[in-house]
Amino acid sequence: KLHTCFSTGSTNDLVKELSDDESGSMTFCLAEHQTSGRGRRGRTWVSPFGSTISMSANWRISEGTASLEGLSLAVGLAVLKALEANGARNIELKWPNDVLWQGRKLSGILLEVHGDPTGECDVIIGIGINIKLSEDQKKGIGQPAVDLHEVCGKTVSRNAVVSQLINTLSHTLDGFTHGGFALYRDQWSEYDAFRGQEVNIEAAGRKEKGVNVGVNEQGGLLIKTETGVKVFNGGEVSLRKS
Ligand code: ATP
Repeated sequence: KLHTCFSTGSTNDLVKELSDDESGSMTFCLAEHQTSGRGRRGRTWVSPFGSTISMSANWRISEGTASLEGLSLAVGLAVLKALEANGARNIELKWPNDVLWQGRKLSGILLEVHGDPTGECDVIIGIGINIKLSEDQKKGIGQPAVDLHEVCGKTVSRNAVVSQLINTLSHTLDGFTHGGFALYRDQWSEYDAFRGQEVNIEAAGRKEKGVNVGVNEQGGLLIKTETGVKVFNGGEVSLRKS
């Protein structure tokens, strides 16, 4: 099912609300404008009227998923493929949830789980893609941002991107159900923005420095530090180029 609306607080909240009374088939929500779009840990996601794609999907899982982290990475790859199919080139992925172009953020992904992630749960998959922002709108974002218009050097149809996105996302979720992130690991690594680079990691107030040596089959980040390779998982970790 596909729901579109003019304005809503957050498409992640809307899709949850709408799919609560439905049979469990996948529901997609799109909004022209989010009044309180969010990123991780309560951060704000900027989505001005008509300038972005704000889309959320509800994916109901009955038997738990091996790794939500891996799912977040696989979704990033699905977004990247939809963008490539619409002419975008040189796009990269930043662990765990960003799509970048020349170091600037083009798209962000936010996964939220309702229920028991090891059993029955709803995974809400939120995707924000910048289509065409004004210079002022870009400046208002706290970090370098870019839109698809600049990446492609021309106007890109939001409808074309959305239909491709529904396609690539559905395929990816099917694949993930059967093979987990292991199916996507090699491909994800090809697009890893920080691969082989010195990075700083901040995890639960702890800071680490090391070389990004890839991701494991669950989607955990592998960092080679002076004391060996460490795995970083999950929501409380921020990765920055050193
Ligand atoms: P992390 O690397 O830890 O995920 P992050 O800064 O990328 O950190 P997210 O929660 O992924 O954090 O995304 C929210 C951040 O993204 C905001 O704080 C803002 O800096 C940036 N942002 C918000 N809206 C947009 C947008 N439309 N385009 C690009 N970047 C945005």
